[in-house]
Amino acid sequence: MKNLALHWKIIIGMGLGVIIGGLASLVPWGSDFVSNWIKPFGTIFINSLKLIAMPLILASLIKGVSDLKDISKLSTIGGRTITIYLCTTVLAVLIGLVLVNTISPGNSIKESTRNELMSAYESDAAEKQTAAAKQQESGPLQALVDIVPSNIFDATTNNRNMLQVIFFALFFGIGIILIPEEKSRPVKAFFDSFNSVILKLIDIIMLASPYGVFALLAALVVESPSLDLFKALGAYSLTLVFGLALMILIYIIIVKVFTGISPKYFMNGIAPAQLLAFSTSSSAATLPVTMERVEKHLGVDKEVSSFVLPIGATINMDGTSLYQAVAAVFIAQAFGLGLSIEVQLGIIITATLASIGAAAVPGAGMVMLVIVLGQAGIPEAGLALIFAVDRPLDMCRTITNVTGDAAVSMLVAKSVGKLKKEY
Ligand code: ASP
Repeated sequence: MKNLALHWKIIIGMGLGVIIGGLASLVPWGSDFVSNWIKPFGTIFINSLKLIAMPLILASLIKGVSDLKDISKLSTIGGRTITIYLCTTVLAVLIGLVLVNTISPGNSIKESTRNELMSAYESDAAEKQTAAAKQQESGPLQALVDIVPSNIFDATTNNRNMLQVIFFALFFGIGIILIPEEKSRPVKAFFDSFNSVILKLIDIIMLASPYGVFALLAALVVESPSLDLFKALGAYSLTLVFGLALMILIYIIIVKVFTGISPKYFMNGIAPAQLLAFSTSSSAATLPVTMERVEKHLGVDKEVSSFVLPIGATINMDGTSLYQAVAAVFIAQAFGLGLSIEVQLGIIITATLASIGAAAVPGAGMVMLVIVLGQAGIPEAGLALIFAVDRPLDMCRTITNVTGDAAVSMLVAKSVGKLKKEY
């Protein structure tokens, strides 16, 4: 057991969690037992990952940028990162649109099922709509304004402000590059060593990961809705999961073509991060592990990963954008609405932007879906239709989000000669 690779330990933890959760659902006191005595350990585990996310972004980005030594290197890496991220996101939306239009999962939804789901999840859907309305109230450039914090200490107190902290870290790193080396040395040494401490903490947290995912999955199983709902929404869920898997296949191919790294090597390297993404439904919570895997197991130099991955976790969500395309068209189909080509082209733009704007936390993609629906003229109340199965699908789309970030970091690393070549 001691020598088992980490991803196997995590898989065993997940499997046992599902079994214990399933067994607990069979006895009357089982759900309470799991909620009171097992779930808290899962919460502690997620909290410890989130705890590390903000200091990690600060330390690794400041270290990463200041290591670059000149601004032109930063703009090369930055430009490539953003361009590749945008391309993969648009590709994901296109794949989602093609699949959902070809399979048409919404057409098979019976009217009775539709009404049942709508009345059961009306209030939950309304909550998401309110959250989305808050985001929408502001002017067109608000998203840009939001990137610049007015107080950095304030910004670091909320994990949703990652983009603000990224902005500060980049800015601070640039400051370090621009002052003479003898002056910047102490600050740089501090962040280098701070970064090493954080990486050690991640190692320690990962030792607990098999137990953490066990608790998370057991709790999820006792709290999940009935299987009937899954059946009703089966075609939709399958279309989405198929699309998400296809996207991962595309990453594997791209990585192979551009870096020569074999699919097995890539998947083995990133597997623990994928399993954690699945268990936590949060790219931000998974970020510490994604960074560790990409650096230590996939050979990406810290100089690249420390820059590409924190930004990717926040803005590059290919799984989420693909989901938004599939879900929007599915809801339209279920309501019997035909969507013109123009509307679907609009979805490409809004789903891309909405996935960039989505926070890297559970359920964020669904809040932003409201905006996609609104733009496309699809009834927002349709959110109630897909609510029941959103959590498991969130788990799946987070895997794609994290895998996409890792793949892009390898491409960027390769393009600037920062990928170790011992394969
Ligand atoms: N949970 C996803 C993530 O953290 C975002 C989403 O809800 O789609 O990557």
